[in-house]
Amino acid sequence: MSVAERERCIKRFAAPLVPGACAWYLGGFDGAVPFRYAYPMDSFVIAARDGASEARTGTLKLPHGEVPTPVFMPVGTYGAVKALSKDDINSLGFKLILGNTYHLYLRPGVEILRRAGGLHGFCAWQGNFLTDSGGFQVFSLAPFRKLTPEGVAFKSHIDGSSHFLTPESVVDLQAAFNSDIQMQLDVCTGWGASRKEAEKAHRFTADWALRAFGEWKQKRDEGYGGLFFPIVQGNFFEDLRAESADICASLDAPGIAIGGLSVGESFAEYSRLLAFTAARLPRDKPRYVMGIGTPDFILQAVENGIDMFDCVLPTRNARNGSYLTRDGFLAIKNAAFREDFSPVDSECDCKVCKTYSRAYLRHLYKEGEILSSMLASWHNLHFLAAMMDEVRAAIREHRFLQYKKAFLERFFSGKYAEGDPDD
Ligand SMILES: [Zn+2]
Repeated sequence: MSVAERERCIKRFAAPLVPGACAWYLGGFDGAVPFRYAYPMDSFVIAARDGASEARTGTLKLPHGEVPTPVFMPVGTYGAVKALSKDDINSLGFKLILGNTYHLYLRPGVEILRRAGGLHGFCAWQGNFLTDSGGFQVFSLAPFRKLTPEGVAFKSHIDGSSHFLTPESVVDLQAAFNSDIQMQLDVCTGWGASRKEAEKAHRFTADWALRAFGEWKQKRDEGYGGLFFPIVQGNFFEDLRAESADICASLDAPGIAIGGLSVGESFAEYSRLLAFTAARLPRDKPRYVMGIGTPDFILQAVENGIDMFDCVLPTRNARNGSYLTRDGFLAIKNAAFREDFSPVDSECDCKVCKTYSRAYLRHLYKEGEILSSMLASWHNLHFLAAMMDEVRAAIREHRFLQYKKAFLERFFSGKYAEGDPDD
């Protein structure tokens, strides 16, 4: 997209979307400011494309090391992936994990994190952190919130204290965390939102993307090294998605996130909107679909040229005794495993599958042993890491669609769906 095209794009969408909003680009935008800024253009390198699909494999070059893509990112909401240590995360081969701005802002708070040397100093993990903006949590967790064009006022779900976040303050927070990739403050809507709600959320998100991008550029000028991703919203309305995607693309940020998917819609609806949105995004930028973590959603995203995804599901399921296997989810509490001394997944070479039996893991789960969560989380993340290794190899060898088909046929064969769920 040329500078002139970008300018036209911005101007096209620079209508007063929400009364009082959009001041930044209505009042101050001269058509060139966002595009003069130079950030390292080599932060994403595509090494190979599948050919038969949009899938691609490459490398994200981040301040705390390189990350092969497509990549699944485990979620460490409070600066820790539940039930796993930083050494575990290293051993499992992950180089990029998530932290949650809303939670870290409330506790331990930005000042403690700043004094500790950011997230890396505080958590003692030297890989990369991606932090979300907290928008999703403000709208899903806070008992009270009020959306204004300036930002969002809310009360903490912990102690009821009052807070106000703006697109700029959220950039500053994430810079203080020293996030390697930070997200803009956005407004996410769920499945079934009305056109009016979706439009309002999209307008706010678009305006906030521009304001956050401006703030991020300033932070970069001051020496902050993390990348910034705007977020595509627009719910399940194609025209809103298109507008949102075009605005995000026009910013020329280092990468782009797609939000508001996997919010309760069917797989078919997810696939439709995913393909529609991804097709409008620049092909040379890393693309991140937020909040997806099951093999079918991940593989569908990869097919559409998505490079990054995260979800609490693999580790949350693990704590609930649900193991990922080649043959689908295995509920370890099932009575059928009481005397089953075989491994959870005989094709998995993780330390859990090489060491422990289903019977023992079931026993640990039934007794509520902490070890149950630790071992199941290890296995589930190992499973996804191995799957992503295979995905990258399949793309390099131009056989991604065959890989996807074979993987999902087996995964949904229903092997563990039958039987006594519990005793
Ligand atoms: Zn295993």
